[in-house]
Parts: sequence; structure tokens; C-alpha cells
Amino acid sequence: MLTPLEVERLSDEFESKTPQEIIAWAIDAFWPQVAMSSSFQTQSVPLLHMVSQINRNLLIYFIDTGYHFWETAIFREQLASQWHLNVLDLYRDTRWDAFARNNTRKLPLEDPNLCCYIHKVQPMQRAMKNMLAWISGIRRDQTDARAQAKILELQEDGLLKVNPMLNWTKADVRRYAEEHDLPSHPLFEKGYRSVGCAPCTVAVGADDDERAGRWQGRGKTECGLHTEMFKHKDFSKLKRDFYLDVSIMERRKDAR
Ligand code: SF4
Repeated sequence: MLTPLEVERLSDEFESKTPQEIIAWAIDAFWPQVAMSSSFQTQSVPLLHMVSQINRNLLIYFIDTGYHFWETAIFREQLASQWHLNVLDLYRDTRWDAFARNNTRKLPLEDPNLCCYIHKVQPMQRAMKNMLAWISGIRRDQTDARAQAKILELQEDGLLKVNPMLNWTKADVRRYAEEHDLPSHPLFEKGYRSVGCAPCTVAVGADDDERAGRWQGRGKTECGLHTEMFKHKDFSKLKRDFYLDVSIMERRKDAR
């Protein structure tokens, strides 16, 4: 277990390392309690390709929200089978099922923070419970929140977040994809520069910001996996950010 000071020192050191070096370090240091997350969109492909070459047994979590485009499911299958990736799908806790089914349309449109919590944040919190390190594909040039991230981030619960792509830019991703002749998500050429769930993603222009089509016009830029929401395990504090009535779930304490 690394101390906060060691994490800080290593993180600074990694600023000049390649993503492949950082990935290899994380796998060596934390195996087998290390996993990666991927949304299997065009931007994710270089990191997936690197992992397929470094250690294809690395556990890769794909969060199946139930709201994905069918093209994402196909692309996930294509990459996983072509590169023999060790992909595990994550789903919402079944104790949310009745609530989620009663609010299928409302959730993404009226309360996207709650929807992301149920379908993305909580499943990942649970999946990471027994892990020591989480490799993610975020980049500093994607959002204001990500611009502040560090390559290594130690959470209070001891989980180490490893962000090997942090220093890469959109141009680096494109260059790597061209050099290695990598496939792109079927919706990319249709203007979907960043692909999330169908109710929360629209196509954008070639000159628009990469993530401009995510939750467009709703004042939301992050799902919560890479913000404070992920670090909060206490549902009673999080619910202040939700609009829909979750009291039915509050009575079911075991659902949290
Ligand atoms: S991105 Fe949209 S549909 Fe997907 S979990 Fe978040 S709010 Fe729900």
C-alpha cells in the first residue's frame, strides 16, 4: 500500500512516462486487484489496444446501463472478441429495478444525476470494493473537471485511481489510432464524437468540443464516475442532488 506522499511523488514522475509504462506499472504493482473501466467508444480504443498488448487478462469493466446505443453493444463485442479482452459487464443493483422501470423515461431526462448514480456510479463502486487500483481513460483536455486530475489519485478508502491517458490530447488519440489502424465506433462518422447513453448523447459538428454532445443543454458534463459523487458512499448525502422521490429506496436500506 502506497502512502499519500509516495503517490504524489510517483504521480509527478509519471507525467513524463508513456501510457503504456503507466499501465504496465499499475498491473505489476496491484495484480490481481487491479481493473480498468471502458465505455467502448472511439476515444477508448487506444487504451484498450494498449491493454490487449500489455496484459489481455486485465479485468475491464463495461457499465451496461440499459440505455446504450445498439452500436455500442456491437462494438464492445467486436473489440472484446478480436483482441481477446477480459470484459465484464456491470449492471445496476437489482433492488433498484422496480423504481427504475417505473421511471424509465423520466430518469435520464428529468434526473440524470440520479440515473447516472443508479446505472453507473453505484455499480462501479461495488465492482471496485475489493480492488486496489482502477485504470481509467480520462484525459485532461476533455472537461474542466478532468483538467484538474492527477495521474495517480489516492481515495480515502485506499483505492488508487490510475489515469495513464491524462496527458494525451484528442490529436494524440487520432494519431495512435491511425498508426495502428484501429477501428472506430460505428456512430463516430455520424458526428457522435463522444458516445454515452442514447437519451443523453447527440451528434455534434466536426469543430465542436469532443464532449459537446453529452447531456447537451442540461448543465451536466460528467456522469459522476470521475467526480466527488464516486467517492461518496453515503446515499443520504448524495440524495440532495436528486429530484425524483427516492424515499421508496430509502426505506430499503439494504439497497445502498
Ligand atoms: S448517461 Fe443518461 S441514460 Fe446513461 S446513466 Fe447517465 S443519465 Fe442515465
